[in-house]
Amino acid sequence: MNYIGGQWVEASETNSNINPSDTSDCVGRYAHGDAQNMADAIDAAFVAKDKWRWSSIQSRADALDKVGTEILARKDELGELLAREEGKVRSEATGEVVRAGQVFKFFAGEALRLAGERIASVRENIDVEILREPTGVVGVITPWNFPIAIPAWKIAAALAYGNTVVFKPADLVPASAWALSEMLSRAGLPDGVFNLVMGRGSVVGDTLLNSPFVHGVTFTGSVSTGSHVISTCASRGAKVQAEMGGKNPLVVLDDADLDVAVSAALNGAFYGTGQRCTASSRLIVTKGIHDEFVAALTKALKETKVGHALDDTSKIGPVVSKSQLQQNLDYVEIGKSEGAELAFGGDLLHRETPGFYMQPALFCETENTMRINQEEIFGPVASVIRADDYDEAVAIANDVSFGLSSGICTTSLRCASDFKHRSAAGLVMVNLPTAGIDYHVPFGGRKASSYGAREQGSYAREFYTTVKTAYVNY
Ligand code: NAD
Repeated sequence: MNYIGGQWVEASETNSNINPSDTSDCVGRYAHGDAQNMADAIDAAFVAKDKWRWSSIQSRADALDKVGTEILARKDELGELLAREEGKVRSEATGEVVRAGQVFKFFAGEALRLAGERIASVRENIDVEILREPTGVVGVITPWNFPIAIPAWKIAAALAYGNTVVFKPADLVPASAWALSEMLSRAGLPDGVFNLVMGRGSVVGDTLLNSPFVHGVTFTGSVSTGSHVISTCASRGAKVQAEMGGKNPLVVLDDADLDVAVSAALNGAFYGTGQRCTASSRLIVTKGIHDEFVAALTKALKETKVGHALDDTSKIGPVVSKSQLQQNLDYVEIGKSEGAELAFGGDLLHRETPGFYMQPALFCETENTMRINQEEIFGPVASVIRADDYDEAVAIANDVSFGLSSGICTTSLRCASDFKHRSAAGLVMVNLPTAGIDYHVPFGGRKASSYGAREQGSYAREFYTTVKTAYVNY
């Protein structure tokens, strides 16, 4: 059921949620709403917006804190549900649930901390105040790869700063979205402040984008959908924020600690089945350490178990869906046809349960201009690119249309410091995987990866509030 105006509402259609680790396991059937459901949810959010805007910041903080506390208390159950529907291994899924709980707690505090500014006027006897007011009705559109953390960091921020919300999650992961919404339905929010409409992007998503009653849309997903979201919102003057794809470089220099570099590459490129926007899909390795690095990473991959997400010995789960699996396998063929050397994996795997399993693929002897190095694959497929030296490695790292995350493994303070400045990405990691972020600091990228204000931490207020400047003659 969808949650609209404080009521659970049946949809005319439902959709099966299939476990990618075991396709004989149906996680449940979930509502697939239509344009009318979305229009009703937008109406409810619009009607509720003034009440919520003028609500006490204490009531906002209490509601968000309550949801955060419940998420953390139920982390094992919610982690298992997430692993079942998305396929990331249980430890990662539980970690994501904990992150969602922490995000709600953080924004409970932010509701209390939001402040404007008071500055002197250039004229005598005048005060100037800069006020921050809620954006209004916010549409939240999320992808399947972080089914609870991404909705959490958008919804909690929106509510903290006094906005009402219409949430449209990805079709593939309705269970986590529904569980989060069910907690929000019991958090003490006035009717209409939070609404859930599950359904097809081209139907309910487009209704959300085109509604004149929606003042802002926060989107995370692919570049192609994101471009449509940005242009539709811009054409009617709505605020928009979009976090999209990545083709993130991890630079490994000759002076790197080999163990640190291999573990950063293994985690960054392949954990989460490579289905992270911050995944290290391009491993740019200088020539002195190249062969040793490829050998060590290949060995580590051989020892990494791919299996059912709820088998605690699995380190990598299945791919999320049949179509994503096919896309990954197609890219393995594209890489071979472009002349890349497959150093490891890339094959379909069969496990005890029927699922979408593939062996992580590592290409070497690749050129940065190849499609496998320029297009987001969004699976457990990474390439090694050989570089002569640090300067060439940085040039290759930046030579891509994306700019979300980047990393460098080095023991040189000079190169680490220089890379922080020269990297054309929104996130820079030193001796760390390109994936893996804190929840209390800004998150976002550059170039085709991101559009609009940053998410997370107190920087989230740039999108979820609107500035007003007041002048008072006293
Ligand atoms: P997607 O673009 O296919 O879908 C994202 C969301 O948009 C879904 O809820 C979908 O139903 C909705 N949608 C689809 N068509 C729509 C339309 N016409 N109008 C409105 N909404 C519509 O992305 P996905 O496959 O769910 O997620 C994978 C992508 O997300 C990858 O490209 C990945 O890099 C990206 N991603 C980015 C970040 C980041 O922060 N930069 C984080 C996670 C994932």
